[in-house]
Amino acid sequence: MKRAPLKRSTKPIRRRSVKMQNLYRKERVPLVKKMLAEDETGAPALCVRCGGVATEVDEIVGRGRGGSFVDEANCQRFCNGCHRWKTDHPAQATEEGWLKSNKQQFSTGPVSLEA
Ligand SMILES: [Zn+2]
Repeated sequence: MKRAPLKRSTKPIRRRSVKMQNLYRKERVPLVKKMLAEDETGAPALCVRCGGVATEVDEIVGRGRGGSFVDEANCQRFCNGCHRWKTDHPAQATEEGWLKSNKQQFSTGPVSLEA
C-alpha cells in the first residue's frame, strides 16, 4: 500500500500556556538577562565551564526532571559550545557536576505557576 509522505508542520508542537508565557515574561527572561549581563566594570558574564563569554543560561536540574528554570540557584551560565557539550554528553556532565538529577537537588521545590 502506498502512503502519502508525512508532512512536517513548522508550527510548534504545543503552544506555551498563558501561565507559562507569563512565567517566561515575568521571571525567566529577566533572570536570563540579569545572568548574562555585563558586571559593573563592563566585563561580560563568563561561562562556568570554560571561562569564555557566556551566552546561554542552562538549568542544572533540567526542567524535565523537575528543576526550576526561574530559580537562579538552579541556573548556570554557559557559552554555546559548553551548552552543546553538556547536551551531547549527559553522563560526563553529571560526573563533572554540570547536570544533576532531581534526587541530588538542593532545596528548591517545584515551580509555582501562580506567582
Ligand atoms: Zn564554555
